[in-house]
Amino acid sequence: MHSLSTPLKEIVGSQTATSLSKAFGLKTVEDALRHFPHRYALRGELTEMQGLKVDEQVTIMAAITSVTNRPMKQKRGSILEVTVSDGTGKLKLTFFNQAWRERELVAGRSGLFSGKITEFKGTRQLAHPTYMLIPTDEEPNVEAAAAFARALIPVYPATSTFPSWRFERTMDLILEGLDPLIKDGLSPEIESQQGFTSLHQAFVDIHSPENHGQIARARERFIFEEAFVYQTVLGIRRIETEKSNAIARPVRKEGLLADFDQILPFKLTDGQVQVCTEIFDDISNAHPMHRLLQGEVGSGKTICALRAMLSVIDNGGQAALLAPTEVLAGQHFRSIVSMLGSLVSKDGLFDPLGKHSTQVTLLTGSMSAPAKREALLAAASGSAGIVIGTHAIFQDKVQFADLGLVVVDEQHRFGVEQRAALAAKSIEGTKPHVLVMTATPIPRTVAMTVFGDLEISTLTELPAGRIPITTHVVPAQEKPSHLQRVWQRIGEEVSKGHQAYVVCPKISAQTQTDENSDTEIEIKGRANVEEMFHFLSTGPLAGLKVAQLHGALASDIKDDVMQSFSRGEIDVLIATTVIEVGVDVPNASVMAIVDAEYFGVSQLHQLRGRVGRGKVPGLCLLVTNSEADSPSRARLDAVASTLDGFELSRIDLEQRREGDVLGTSQSGRKSGLRMLQVVRDENVIIKARDVAWQLLKIDPELQNNLSLAKRIKEVEQDEKSEYLEKA
Ligand code: ADP
Ligand code: MG
Repeated sequence: MHSLSTPLKEIVGSQTATSLSKAFGLKTVEDALRHFPHRYALRGELTEMQGLKVDEQVTIMAAITSVTNRPMKQKRGSILEVTVSDGTGKLKLTFFNQAWRERELVAGRSGLFSGKITEFKGTRQLAHPTYMLIPTDEEPNVEAAAAFARALIPVYPATSTFPSWRFERTMDLILEGLDPLIKDGLSPEIESQQGFTSLHQAFVDIHSPENHGQIARARERFIFEEAFVYQTVLGIRRIETEKSNAIARPVRKEGLLADFDQILPFKLTDGQVQVCTEIFDDISNAHPMHRLLQGEVGSGKTICALRAMLSVIDNGGQAALLAPTEVLAGQHFRSIVSMLGSLVSKDGLFDPLGKHSTQVTLLTGSMSAPAKREALLAAASGSAGIVIGTHAIFQDKVQFADLGLVVVDEQHRFGVEQRAALAAKSIEGTKPHVLVMTATPIPRTVAMTVFGDLEISTLTELPAGRIPITTHVVPAQEKPSHLQRVWQRIGEEVSKGHQAYVVCPKISAQTQTDENSDTEIEIKGRANVEEMFHFLSTGPLAGLKVAQLHGALASDIKDDVMQSFSRGEIDVLIATTVIEVGVDVPNASVMAIVDAEYFGVSQLHQLRGRVGRGKVPGLCLLVTNSEADSPSRARLDAVASTLDGFELSRIDLEQRREGDVLGTSQSGRKSGLRMLQVVRDENVIIKARDVAWQLLKIDPELQNNLSLAKRIKEVEQDEKSEYLEKA
């Protein structure tokens, strides 16, 4: 009897095992059993041989009339040809390199033969049919025959070297000697409580089902198990957070925060007030905050984070703000320094006049060595109250005197490893408070799945006075004059004193997509920044100040361009998705996205969030060559029809696998969510979460749930290797 971890070669032989490993990466019994059929074909009702049609899936009952085995003419190997007849006609069955079948397929025997009709040199035949021979001493049994014909044939993800039908045989071999007591994350108690079968039965149901009901019940079990294991992981993390210590940083009546609120040039929205209260409550606790702040683009998340940072500084701590790109880190630095105004001190030294102030320090990878050294020193000595940098640089050698709060901007995922790295930076025995901010709003269940161990705050309203962005789809091919109009429109905005973005999917004719872009489709012929720059600055936008910005430029150049654009010295910025997140230039009023169909729905929503950020109405033009009525055009129409980021992210998610949601680009890992789809399986996730939390209440260390504990280790191992791969 074999178990889930038995190597495949012990069961299917080393040749098949090698093919399985090469073609699909399957090495163990479990790997193979989790290679699920992607659909099932019906064998087909019993058919008479007369009138068989090519390409039809058929089952026939017939007697073998002759059998020959001969070497093939063109290739190596042998071919076994079996002729059968049912009285109405004759049919040839062929098997390659399966001479051993000659022993059972003998003339005179009857059986059921099932497969797809093909034509070879004008003759219809069945290649590699499945069959069931009728025992020699028995009359053909009509009921058994009908059941055989009705059975479902699993169709597997296959390759030309390992076709689907070989899986059928392989799975049969594996299932035959499989230990009936194999376990996954579900204990027998949970199985029976939820009305599920054993894992063994579920594998049988999915690989050799007798009916659709069995397939459905197996799928349900696998989906629930995935959700359950993941929710248990999150539950454990939450318990750990609740147990760990942080330094409480309560709001002080006097200090930087109070002074800042005095000079704030606008009134906080009700939503911002609410979110700030939630954050302040969290950080005045002696346990670390783990909060996700999600809010529409432009909803004003940064202010909420900044107020929290100031409160931490008022309590003697430091705060770090991590941005995904250097452009964004630079922008945060400049805008925070300008918002703080006179509250910024150059050296972080105590002001003898008693004025509250703090030092704000930028730390990025491209800074000169001396500047970096100075920044590192400011962080380590504690003189910098706020350190702003990129995620990447932060993982390195930065030390803090007393890191009290980490704000992670525009990040979907902030894993355990990142958090562990942070813990090492705060005062011994404590962890910093963590606030993760994202402008890609996600539905509740996704949030529960991805951030199940975080509290969630949401900013829905935009600051008053914003005029909603108008979005239009511009079909460039159908209406070339409309494209002309796009460039004219940009010219008009500039003449009114506003600024514009033109976004392209590529940097240059040769390059791949830029960073941040999640599209991998065919990249030839897509608009690129360099050519667009040349075209616009010498053509339709000649005379305007046009500049380009993309990831291949040196960091200081990127920074310069971004700053000049912020200062209004550049009229039109031609860019890749480097401007996707966070860039904040309120004077920009129009954005043209060229070849917009190459961007994701949420990405487009993010991009257009760069305009209409001030008092100027925003306009976004989605230029596309996609055809009317095509799915890509429908996606663009969806973006144009709503400004509701939640709605759009739902559309986006429905088209993706959750691997992307979780940040796991590679599927097929042990813990990889194979069947679970966060949107479709909303109810399962909610139920799994309840069951997981109930269990953790009784058995928080999983001492009585060892196989679940093992599954959890696998998930964590996967996350760790993914983290290491990225680093
Ligand atoms: P996001 O949530 O997209 O990160 P930001 O924090 O960058 O948004 O804020 C967008 C813009 O709105 C900034 O220019 C910011 O100064 C401004 N802002 C934030 N809160 C308010 C408010 N309550 N009233 C007016 N403007 C605000
Ligand atoms: Mg932002």
